[in-house]
Amino acid sequence: MDRPKMTAGLLVALGGNALQRAGGTGSWEEARAQMRATVAVLAEVASEGGPLVLTHGNGPQIGTLLRQNELAAREVPSRPMDVLGAETQGQVGYLIQTELTPALRQRKVSRSVLTIVSRMEVARSDPAFRRPEKPVGRYYTDDEARRFRKQLGWSMEYDGARGGWRRVVPSPRPVRWLEGDAVRHLLDARLASSWVPVVAGGGGIPVVRRPDGGYEGVEAVIDKDLAASLVARELDLDTLAIVTDVPGAAVAFRRPGERWLRDVSLTELERLAAAGEFSAGSMAPKVEAGIGFLRRGGRRFVIADIPSLARALRGEAGTRVTAD
Ligand code: ADP
Ligand code: MG
Repeated sequence: MDRPKMTAGLLVALGGNALQRAGGTGSWEEARAQMRATVAVLAEVASEGGPLVLTHGNGPQIGTLLRQNELAAREVPSRPMDVLGAETQGQVGYLIQTELTPALRQRKVSRSVLTIVSRMEVARSDPAFRRPEKPVGRYYTDDEARRFRKQLGWSMEYDGARGGWRRVVPSPRPVRWLEGDAVRHLLDARLASSWVPVVAGGGGIPVVRRPDGGYEGVEAVIDKDLAASLVARELDLDTLAIVTDVPGAAVAFRRPGERWLRDVSLTELERLAAAGEFSAGSMAPKVEAGIGFLRRGGRRFVIADIPSLARALRGEAGTRVTAD
């Protein structure tokens, strides 16, 4: 398919701290307050005018919905995981729309924020379906773990450090973003700065192809950093910025000699990743997402936290990686 070419453009992937403060109560008021701090920075970035697309994680939000399911199961039939994924896209997207819109107005930026419920195709043959390893939801006791394994067929894994069991689900790789074509049209050269689309929240709703040509949801979650990388490439955006709760990537993280990375070449980042500098499930998928993005034609990859995002995009903070 012929794609409208874009010269620049930014995808910001919001995670952890940008959405929910650790140690909070998880109330909606808290989420709004947290989002207000986040959108102040996003509005500044949006005022630059180029294409801007947002995506976000959904770990805590999925956890809350799973718990609501659990507590209500006697009265209200539980919803499967793909439906919960769609619900989190709705609630976080709505929150971003609610808070970012006035922040844009204040800066006299006329862009509409819109949320696209996004499905992400995954392969049935993905090895992750045979090896579920992404922990979701709360911690369970030995008794509960035994019961849920038997009654619900859940895979459970013991977390020694926290002394509890967690449900683990498959985390297959995103293969194709089904709403990609539509959003690409929104971002054609003439309209790019009219919108701020919020897409592929929580990594997208995992779906597999059906024999009849349709798609159906599966009990899995997709890594939001890998999904962000795929979305940024699909939309020909040249910069991928992953916003987390630390101001960048470090080597010897939380060990003696810890060193925060500033400007790094792609080759150097690949070397550090191969040397195991980044933890699985947290920093490693971000780095992998960035490497994939740059290897497939992306120009710039940035890791920052919310307070440092705007400066990181100007090359003054965060970890910045360029294709070599
Ligand atoms: P998010 O919700 O933003 O995806 P994650 O918890 O998945 O957040 O990933 C961010 C975390 O990665 C940081 O809080 C940090 O504890 C951890 N981390 C692991 N290895 C590193 C590293 N080498 N440099 C920086 N942070 C790291
Ligand atoms: Mg994460």
